[in-house]
Order: sequence, then C-alpha cells, then structure tokens
Amino acid sequence: MPQLRCPFEDCRCVVASMDEKRKIQVPEQVYTKMKLLQNSRERTLRGGQFLVFDDVWDFDNIGVSRSLPVELRNATSGFALDDDSLTVNEVSKYLICADCDRGPLGAVCEVKTADGGVKVVHLLSLASVELEQ
Ligand SMILES: [Zn+2]
Repeated sequence: MPQLRCPFEDCRCVVASMDEKRKIQVPEQVYTKMKLLQNSRERTLRGGQFLVFDDVWDFDNIGVSRSLPVELRNATSGFALDDDSLTVNEVSKYLICADCDRGPLGAVCEVKTADGGVKVVHLLSLASVELEQ
C-alpha cells in the first residue's frame, strides 16, 4: 500500500498507509475550523479527504498532542463530516508527526454517529500529509 508521510522536507517519517476503505469526504471548512496544517499541492489533489482510524495503534507512527484549549475544542461542535453520518461533538487533541512533533496533521474527535451513538475517531487529513505512490 502507498504510504503517507510527514510533509516536512527534513522529516518525511511514515505516519500511516493509504487505505481507501478508511476514506471520507469532509466539507473544506474543516481546515479553518480545526486549524489544520495544509500542504498546497496535496490540498489541490485531495482537499477535504480524510482517513478515519478508530484506534491510534492503526497508524504506523503518529503522535497525539495535549488536550486542546476549550475555545478550540468547542469551535467544531456540530460540524458534520461525510454526508451527516458523523457529527463532531468536539476536537479533543491534535494528531502530530511522531518523529518531529509538527502538524497538526489531523485531529482526535469525539463524534456522534447517525444512530445517535458517541465514539472517538482519529481523523488524518490527506491534505496535510504527503502521499507516496
Ligand atoms: Zn515529521
């Protein structure tokens, strides 16, 4: 499977493998709402595309930030992902490169599912990392 790497020239650490089955399409306002890092070339190719991981251990190499300040946690409340099947309750932490600690490359979110359940998902932004073919 192609690999997803940290976008920084001096790092390029593998963060995860590309997996089409995990992919969701998210409205583009997500980048400003969540204040995610954007890589202009990847954003053109894969804007709004995210991979969903239920478990942090499903990544090859990812770091998790400290809990975000309350203003940022609440800023995304009620934001719908993927045709309303998932709605963000809050963004609790950021995903960062495990090697260089830079990012944010994605977010750890508490989401509401279409059936009313609540779960925690890890969203990796494909516009924030680099896809190696
Ligand atoms: Zn890195």
